[in-house]
Amino acid sequence: MNAIIKPVFRRESMRIAGKLVQTEDQIEVLNPYDNSVVGTVPAARAEHVREAFVKANAFKPKLTRYERQTILQRTAELLRDRQQDFARLITAESGLCWKDSLYEATRAFDVWSFAAQLTIKDDGEIYSCDISPNGKSRKIYTTRLPLLGVISAITPFNHPLNMVSHKIAPAIATNNRVVLKPTELTPLTALALADVLYEAGLPPEMLSVVTGNPSTMGDAMITDPNADLVTFTGSVRVGKHIAATAGYKRIVLELGGNDPLIVMEDADLEKAAELAVTGATKNSGQRCTAVKRILVVDSVADAFSKLVVEKAQKLKCGNPADPDTDVGTVINERSAELFERRVEDAQRFGAEVLHTAPRRGALYAPTVVDHVPYDCELVREETFGPVIPIVRCPDNIAEVIRISNSTAYGLSSGVCTNRVDYVSRFVSELEVGTVNIWEVPGYRIEMSPFGGIKDSGLGYKEGVHEAMKSFTNVRTWSLPWA
Ligand code: NAD
Repeated sequence: MNAIIKPVFRRESMRIAGKLVQTEDQIEVLNPYDNSVVGTVPAARAEHVREAFVKANAFKPKLTRYERQTILQRTAELLRDRQQDFARLITAESGLCWKDSLYEATRAFDVWSFAAQLTIKDDGEIYSCDISPNGKSRKIYTTRLPLLGVISAITPFNHPLNMVSHKIAPAIATNNRVVLKPTELTPLTALALADVLYEAGLPPEMLSVVTGNPSTMGDAMITDPNADLVTFTGSVRVGKHIAATAGYKRIVLELGGNDPLIVMEDADLEKAAELAVTGATKNSGQRCTAVKRILVVDSVADAFSKLVVEKAQKLKCGNPADPDTDVGTVINERSAELFERRVEDAQRFGAEVLHTAPRRGALYAPTVVDHVPYDCELVREETFGPVIPIVRCPDNIAEVIRISNSTAYGLSSGVCTNRVDYVSRFVSELEVGTVNIWEVPGYRIEMSPFGGIKDSGLGYKEGVHEAMKSFTNVRTWSLPWA
């Protein structure tokens, strides 16, 4: 094993309009693999959050499209040049394996580069008005303007760089100001990203990063009067709290998922098993769009389950800093214990564990569980780790769709079939934001629309293009010439 060198300990400060700000109270950031302290960040109080919003609100960005494109592209290039440094930091504070962290850094490059390219595209529309007997010889034009107030962005732990990028890049592309609160579990990557942005020429007032958790800052990120929009990615519990607390503000909620991979009787089982195992275990199964339930029809379930076990056995689970590791830790031991408990609970209802390994702290091995009842906690709730649960369904598409739609979530889905009649039904009847045929539910490009319905979100999409729309106000203006 040739382990990746750990990053040096970081005693970090917040970045409030570019100024370094400390507090007496500190939060330790732990490496989930060995519980060593990777760094510390300040525990912000409500007054720090208020200061960040006041400073952001006082600044009115006037960057031209060209200037924004230059900053965004420069950021992309700096991230590409420092890909290994970022990956090292992600692995250290999240326990994600080196392969996953490197991949995340390349995804972030795409986010920044796509935002740069979209910034210079004029998205105005023109409506001719002489199109009905009520019309006139005029034209209506649209233009998108930044929000009047500030964007409040709150992010989760599972993609410490990419999730943060998806909030900030579209905001800068549209000349907005952001106050970001990354999760207290993996805040170091977000702070390092802020420094890259300042280096790339971003006026520091356009981005502040406050650190900490609600126990010291309360609901300040949600209720600040200078915040026009709250964009949140995280759990359903917190998302619903934000929806109940934000009041008269725009809110964009990207919440949990419980995505199925559906395997029909005509599927190439080898290919389907590969999608099942990679989809359930990449990023230690901690993707909102990870495969969290595999719905396979009875007639092919035995053969499919055997292939899944073979593929899961090949995965190397261990030290996240070992470049050969396929599955690192989950975020902490508490989460790993929860998965264990849910698997045991499923066993009580008839499920069979076909492959696993003893848990060591937050290191939870890919665990194949077959014959999982579709309504037990393991697959009814979001199990945010590398469990590979196989749910056997009757050979009947209506039943498969019913079972798929039976949870509170509606984020994404993957489907393994070549039958066009099946595809047509899945696309129209699955209650989800995305249907990927012959791909994992998580497949997307960073620019395409992305987001869920039901408990997974309010239906507003993310992805650079959609986020740029939700971060702007449309102004219409008209002229008396056709
Ligand atoms: P979480 O909801 O526990 O925390 C997310 C963030 O909310 C953290 O920064 C946390 O400190 C903050 N927070 C909590 N209460 C707050 C309050 N009152 N005010 C302000 N901030 C508050 O989520 P997590 O455990 O970090 O992330 C995992 C979850 O995120 C999973 O459910 C996953 O599916 C979801 N997720 C969704 C998407 C998506 O796009 N739909 C993407 C990634 C992750």
